Amino acid sequence: MAWTKFERLDIDTALERLRASTARVVVIGLPTSRNSSYLRASPDAPARVAAAVLRDEGNPFAENGVDVSDRSLVRYLGALGLEGDDEFDDIRRVAAEAFRLGRHPLFIGGDHSVTYPVVAGLHDVHGPVDIVHVDAHPDLYDELDGNRLSHASPFARILEAGYARSLTQYGIRTFTAHQREQAARFGVTSHEMRHHRRWAPPQLQGPVYVSLDLDAMDPAFVPGVAHQEPGGMSVRDVLDVLGWIDRPVVAGDVVEYHPARDIQGTTAVVAAKLVRELAAKMIGG
Ligand code: MN
Ligand code: MN
Repeated sequence: MAWTKFERLDIDTALERLRASTARVVVIGLPTSRNSSYLRASPDAPARVAAAVLRDEGNPFAENGVDVSDRSLVRYLGALGLEGDDEFDDIRRVAAEAFRLGRHPLFIGGDHSVTYPVVAGLHDVHGPVDIVHVDAHPDLYDELDGNRLSHASPFARILEAGYARSLTQYGIRTFTAHQREQAARFGVTSHEMRHHRRWAPPQLQGPVYVSLDLDAMDPAFVPGVAHQEPGGMSVRDVLDVLGWIDRPVVAGDVVEYHPARDIQGTTAVVAAKLVRELAAKMIGG
């Protein structure tokens, strides 16, 4: 059975649904692209990914054996109504409430700026976490085009605020001199694409937050992103990184889906596969 589509929840409805749901993993859409620096995705992007999570042509089992269609395990709550000035406050409130309730929230973007308020909400309840970040871009700009909340800056904000104990990146292939300085300043471990064959598992204490930017993968696999960057990871490479994580994953996101650039919905299918596998990772096989 397909998950509900094309809903935009106000903050109170979202919090009500969250409190009413007993699922261990709650999937929540965050349709905002106002902090995107180039192209803006349509607000139905998270719903399109959610709609591809349970498809008639496949079965609902993740690779570790978790049945993602079991509504006591995983539930899609809908997408928040965002794109207002207080959108980060709403995202932070929903994230913090999910953690207070002992749920594992999994967010579907939306642009990558959403990771900052999500991890802020996580920090409100759990303190600092280890972050595993998969992306073509380091997203460490102090600011981009004058915007400190840009989707190119979330990890600069997270690290400055002390919300992360560690940040380990995979798939990076767009370092600027400024972002290299930022990575050194914050002690980021960045596994670059050009050294793909020498990557090592992340060193984690846990709890772990996983942030998956779809453009980490090669545009051959994932054309439906705003910033196509060739020379990237395969879908399997991303799943291998997930498999390396040996501490509890408390929450995560799959971000930067851009429907207008997708081809026959294949990017949504890849994003949905990552949602299934990430949810199953949180639950444990
Ligand atoms: Mn990113
Ligand atoms: Mn990116």
